[in-house]
Amino acid sequence: MGLLDDLTAPEASECMFAGLLGTLPAEERAAVVNVIEQIRSMPRVQGRTTTPNVKWLWRILSNNGHKIGVNNLTRHVRQECSCR
Ligand SMILES: [Zn+2]
Repeated sequence: MGLLDDLTAPEASECMFAGLLGTLPAEERAAVVNVIEQIRSMPRVQGRTTTPNVKWLWRILSNNGHKIGVNNLTRHVRQECSCR
């Protein structure tokens, strides 16, 4: 990699979870994105776990063979990741 390559190669601007999303078939990706939107729009209720939530989504992804850190997923859902 030379200077020009370094200057023109865009920095990785997506988090690991976004990278995982990119590998999913369009239909599954749309479904996951939809769930994330739902989680983001859920009011936070103290002391109560509502579904969908991050842990629930994470477990489903794990069960289907998509390995992602729960912290990475949480940051993405809270929009604290590198995607923005
Ligand atoms: Zn992200």
